[in-house]
Amino acid sequence: MDPVVVFDLGKVLVDFDYSIAAQKVAARSSRHVQNLHEFLGGSPLLARFESGLLTREQFFSEIQAATGFAGTQDEFAGYFADIFTPISPMVALHAGLRKEKIPTYILSNTNDIAVAHIRRRFPFFSEFDGYILSYEVGAMKPDAKIYETLEKMSGRKGGDIFYIDDRSENVQAGAARGWKVALHETPGKTKSALRNFLSAHARSKPGAANHATPVRAMAGDGAS
Ligand SMILES: [Mg+2]
Repeated sequence: MDPVVVFDLGKVLVDFDYSIAAQKVAARSSRHVQNLHEFLGGSPLLARFESGLLTREQFFSEIQAATGFAGTQDEFAGYFADIFTPISPMVALHAGLRKEKIPTYILSNTNDIAVAHIRRRFPFFSEFDGYILSYEVGAMKPDAKIYETLEKMSGRKGGDIFYIDDRSENVQAGAARGWKVALHETPGKTKSALRNFLSAHARSKPGAANHATPVRAMAGDGAS
């Protein structure tokens, strides 16, 4: 099968900083929450939201209860979401893959407030073939269920998938399924790992020198 490339979102395609949201929320809250940025960006509460266990309304009411936030849900959502900035070299890398007609996917632990904001604000986000989002799937990376969802959606398995993520537990879970992976550290390193993958994959394809030869599905893992 032709390869697909899977991108994590946070710290791969967009940077984020929950302290921006924490400052705005704290300014309109009646109760002090220690390390509010961690409460917003790294708490069990956020994990429940991103696992699809809480609706946006339920998440907001838990935030309200903890902070005494005086604004509306929409005001909160605005503060909570406006923490992202695109990582230009990675957005450009993705655009290059689109030009080469290589299918691309987003595989992200995220929530509907963030996704609505990113979709509205950053045009590149609409350019993927598919989106595997934790709050829709009901599972977060590195849970196998979310990786299986990508395999079903893309129709690919194992070495036909190249996966980029900045968290080692997430890439390890992909590698354990036979996916080719890059632990994202810098755009330069990821770009060269991706190039190596694409050229190795092209060489390993049955009938690589002869396009008339049908490509077998599940062609094994090829050379690695
Ligand atoms: Mg990430």
